[in-house]
Amino acid sequence: MRYCTQCILPDTRPGIRLDAEGICTACHGHRDKETKIDWPARERAFQTLVAQTKARAEGYDCIVPVSGGKDSWYQVIMAKKYGLSVLAVTWRTPARTEIGQRNLDAMIKNLGVDHIDYTLSPDVERRFMKAAFEERGTTGLPMHMALFAIPIRLALQLRIPMILWGENPQLEYGGNELERLSDTLDTDWLARHGCLESTDADYWCGKEGLTQSDLLAYQIPRNPNFAVRSVFLGAFFKWNSYENARIAQQSGFDYDEQDLKIGSWDFADIDCDFISLHHFLKWYKFGFTRDFDNLSVKIRYGMIDRSEAINQIAHKGWVAPEKDIAAFCRFQEKPESWFWSVCESFRNTDIWVKDAGVWHIPGFLIPEWHWT
Ligand SMILES: [Zn+2]
Repeated sequence: MRYCTQCILPDTRPGIRLDAEGICTACHGHRDKETKIDWPARERAFQTLVAQTKARAEGYDCIVPVSGGKDSWYQVIMAKKYGLSVLAVTWRTPARTEIGQRNLDAMIKNLGVDHIDYTLSPDVERRFMKAAFEERGTTGLPMHMALFAIPIRLALQLRIPMILWGENPQLEYGGNELERLSDTLDTDWLARHGCLESTDADYWCGKEGLTQSDLLAYQIPRNPNFAVRSVFLGAFFKWNSYENARIAQQSGFDYDEQDLKIGSWDFADIDCDFISLHHFLKWYKFGFTRDFDNLSVKIRYGMIDRSEAINQIAHKGWVAPEKDIAAFCRFQEKPESWFWSVCESFRNTDIWVKDAGVWHIPGFLIPEWHWT
């Protein structure tokens, strides 16, 4: 395992490559944002796109997929600022938090936006999550499939010519240069980066008794007869998570500083009790935690230096999102021993080694780490 010399991301993170100097693709993305991308030109491109979209619109100009989180507020604010009529669309998580509901309600009210809270059968979600977790070690796969497919299906069916997604993850968290400079979320992108493990809804049909009809909302139509421009807002305006949180907060976004679910950002990952599990599995599969993501961004923003980030990780140690694991097991009607044995079955032995009954990662970022 090698770590970026500027931030603390390991090369096991999907999309991360280190160059000859040991600098990762995410840090290169940050450099692109500061030096390579002509943001005023990108803004003009966005204005052109808005004009083209409005010329084609038959009703709403665009769909903004929202969770109620800080980034959703920013997306809606920016869409409206540039004159787009917005239909906000949410895949309703079966584990929405109180603060997540409050923020979503406030967003719709304060920003004055029409909204669809798209709820899938909890029983289908439960079975799909069980299948994805046991087979691929990812509780987040059904969530990702739903939150991508639902806005795409609605845009096609309601003939809404644009979908405005949030950040370009390859620019923020690592990807090759072509991907970092791209503005488009299409089916190729979904296949590579949608956290779908190279599967589609058809693949899961028959598993845990799931039928075609159970999985309808997860299907992404092939060869649609209506063209939808599906773009990242973060490709047109320089993305900054802290700035988004500040802008959202000015309009009424709230976060409880005591309730840190996972990672080190109190304003993120707060809408859903299950999102923490998606991040938690990275420990077994890739040998890092959500803190590595959050603190690496802070390093790139110049808010802390690398040694301080390492100190914070060392000080915090290994923490499991106990409450969320318990909630997930209740949802699945399974004992917690089931959760831990599935996690264990996805421990990546390319990076993990067992010595005297204790698993550890040779060459881990923090040499004096307490392995348990
Ligand atoms: Zn880096």
